[in-house]
Amino acid sequence: MPTNLSRRELLAAIGLAGTAVALNAGEAAADQLDPRPQYIDRSRLWWVKETNTPTTEIDWQTVKRFDETKTTRKSMPVYVGKEKADELNALNARVAREAEAEQRPGYTTKDIALKEATNSGRVAMSFLGPNKATTPKDRGVPIYEGTPEENTQIVTAALRHMGAATVGVVELDSNTEKLIYSVDPDGKAIVFEDVEVGSEDEKKRVLPKKARWVIVYTIQMSTETMRRSPTMLGSQTTTLTYTRQTQIQAQLQEFLRALGYHGYGEAATNALGIAPALGVMAGLGELSRLNRLVTPEYGPMVRVFKLVTDLPLAPTKPIDAGIMEFCKNCKKCAEACPSKSLSFDREPSWETKGGWNNPGHKAYFEDSTSCRAYWAAVGTNCGICFASCPYAKSDLASVHTLVKATASMTPAFDGMFRKLDDVFYEDYKDPEEWWKTNLPEMGIDTTQGHKK
Ligand code: SF4
Ligand code: SF4
Repeated sequence: MPTNLSRRELLAAIGLAGTAVALNAGEAAADQLDPRPQYIDRSRLWWVKETNTPTTEIDWQTVKRFDETKTTRKSMPVYVGKEKADELNALNARVAREAEAEQRPGYTTKDIALKEATNSGRVAMSFLGPNKATTPKDRGVPIYEGTPEENTQIVTAALRHMGAATVGVVELDSNTEKLIYSVDPDGKAIVFEDVEVGSEDEKKRVLPKKARWVIVYTIQMSTETMRRSPTMLGSQTTTLTYTRQTQIQAQLQEFLRALGYHGYGEAATNALGIAPALGVMAGLGELSRLNRLVTPEYGPMVRVFKLVTDLPLAPTKPIDAGIMEFCKNCKKCAEACPSKSLSFDREPSWETKGGWNNPGHKAYFEDSTSCRAYWAAVGTNCGICFASCPYAKSDLASVHTLVKATASMTPAFDGMFRKLDDVFYEDYKDPEEWWKTNLPEMGIDTTQGHKK
């Protein structure tokens, strides 16, 4: 990776950053005396601060419930015209075919076999859940009852055990209700009604008003694999994560049922609510230049999922880990993006880029149509921007601990840390070499982000 950072500058940066971290370690020690209830993940990285408002400015008056079918995933023909959309679909299929015929690295038969394999074995996704587990009534016992804090704790423990990375909770009110889609990806409306139990028919999904809590959770993707993007090999870490989620969601729904409650889940990929927005409100991360969630623990290397429940839960707070501030100077993802779909502006804006964005918050809005067009040109999806992000780098024992911790408190070092990332990390790796790696299970480090 080219850089104009001299060795002297690099050592100076490490020294200065070390001082900043040491100074702030005193504040962290004071945090250990924090008398607040300890029901929420106390093993979170010490430099992640809880806040009352997210680092993204929101004008709740302007925010409206969003129709998911307006994303480019569903509405490319509306944004670029039907002819162009058909052309892009045909291009995507042709490039994938030709790349395999040529046995291009990352598109060889073994890469495609892995993609096919990780796309299989999905559990049926549904709004209402499998409904197979026994309920307390079936077992002749009262329903489970705990305090909201205890309930958040057990849901977090259960979800982590099932394979989630981080877990948060958003309580629905007249503002946060706007983060639930008005229309699901399959065209069914989502409505709130004053009923005891949710339901679904051919036209709509009903959320009971008493189900006031959204469980928001992340599942890790493999950075090592994503660093082989854009290829079939790189793309299958996303596929594997979505496949794993189908099982985790079904298990969460059954866990809630067996406690005596209900879990209203995603009926399809990216259903129910706006993932990055709910992730921000639950404090799982901050919105970023990617216009996606960047988490302190895993950077953008997660997918974000959500489920609404009537089990009373204690909400988790938004966070400030310095991520939005770091993005102002960094711009690494925008520079890495081949289709120039990401914003280069220093400041986020209220101005959206197209109908795929939901107005009412200040963000780095992306050109989703040029991003999708690039996917077609490479015959798969992309992810270069995710892999290039300094927060995606997984080795917490290295300079990145310093980067993330210091960025959370000392924005003056942000520019220097961007350069350190350039020096230490190769963002793109050889797909053929991936087959010789000895990665942990599912290509992810499940100890990362915890007990540090
Ligand atoms: S996925 Fe690829 S094309 Fe899309 S914004 Fe990221 S780097 Fe650009
Ligand atoms: S690469 Fe830099 S600008 Fe982009 S999301 Fe990551 S930290 Fe922000």
